[in-house]
Amino acid sequence: MAGQDEEIGHKLMRMLLAGNWKMNGLKTSLSEIRALSRALADGPIAAEFLICPPATLVAEAAKAAAGTAVAIGGQDCHPEAAGAFTGDISAEMLRDAGATWVIAGHSERRQYHGETDALIAAKAKAGQRAGLSVILCVGESEAERDAGRAISTVTGQLAGCLAGASPGGLTIAYEPVWAIGTGRTPSGTEIEEMHRAVKDHLKERFDTEAKGVRVLYGGSVKPANAAEILALPHVDGALIGGASLKAADFLAIARAAPRR
Ligand code: PGA
Repeated sequence: MAGQDEEIGHKLMRMLLAGNWKMNGLKTSLSEIRALSRALADGPIAAEFLICPPATLVAEAAKAAAGTAVAIGGQDCHPEAAGAFTGDISAEMLRDAGATWVIAGHSERRQYHGETDALIAAKAKAGQRAGLSVILCVGESEAERDAGRAISTVTGQLAGCLAGASPGGLTIAYEPVWAIGTGRTPSGTEIEEMHRAVKDHLKERFDTEAKGVRVLYGGSVKPANAAEILALPHVDGALIGGASLKAADFLAIARAAPRR
């Protein structure tokens, strides 16, 4: 496995297990973050942990997770630092609230808010400007996969969304749209093939600096399939939606992560 990663200029990095709460969570949900942090303190697991709660909980979540192994991130940000953009939140505001990460280009933002690759590129750049680590999401629809265009769709998104981004603090999440929240996942071979294509693209773009860019898999990751997915070559962690809402599920996934 190490050999295959080194072949395309990647080193084996610590896994990143990132939870995306989407539009879920009230103040009472902070207890899940506390439970996760406590459990991780009891028996350290060799991975990095991130929870991206809704914006309303970022500041409280950052307080609850301060000094623990769990980092807190935003789910989206506006490209500008400040201004007349009613309802929007900037990367600087997330940082000010205690976030150290932000997600850009989640397929639900692309689908329900019409986000284009150009806008996502500006958001990713904004996250980096504010000193946040950025998770850039890419992934094909079912129709694109059926038409044999999965890899060209994803590499096209990478080309469009990485304009202006630097490899430092960058993570890519491959999330096939048809696997998100559906209970369906691609085969191990399909995941491996896509992650390899993503890493080849990163290598072309960033040369030796691509080594530090993790590529996560996302879409219906749960305790039952985590061990199999996380053991695949070129998979450096997971972006987890539904199964990140409960500390017990998140921990079960974390325990399935191979040690690196
Ligand atoms: P899911 O969501 O784990 O609920 O499929 C993943 C995501 O959208 O990031």
